[in-house]
Amino acid sequence: MSHKIEKDLICIICPNGCRLHGTLTEGGELEVTGNRCVRGKTFAGRELTDPTRSLTTTVKTAFDDFPYLPVRTDGEIPKYAIAKVLEELRSVLVTERMTCGDVVLENAAGTGVKIIATANLYA
Ligand code: SF4
Repeated sequence: MSHKIEKDLICIICPNGCRLHGTLTEGGELEVTGNRCVRGKTFAGRELTDPTRSLTTTVKTAFDDFPYLPVRTDGEIPKYAIAKVLEELRSVLVTERMTCGDVVLENAAGTGVKIIATANLYA
């Protein structure tokens, strides 16, 4: 680690939403304050080094009775890849009647993560 990284964060692991202050020292040591449990420290460590997120959004369909299909990633993707995944999803048009859990897109933006339907595509 060549430089110190410091960030104020809100832990999103549970509804308590603790306000954290995380520091990653030049020596790679993680210091976290404000966390009420150890999961907050793990979260802060990830946010300071390799932040990831699940993504939920919608994609267009070819069906007038259901023009948008709600979808989500089937795992977490790097935060920096979110814009790329959203851009790729803008060009997706669903032309089959899908059900919840069906794969809409494999390997979204090269992340290795799938995009799956979170609703049935019929009334
Ligand atoms: S630090 Fe622990 S208690 Fe606080 S929001 Fe994160 S998971 Fe919840």
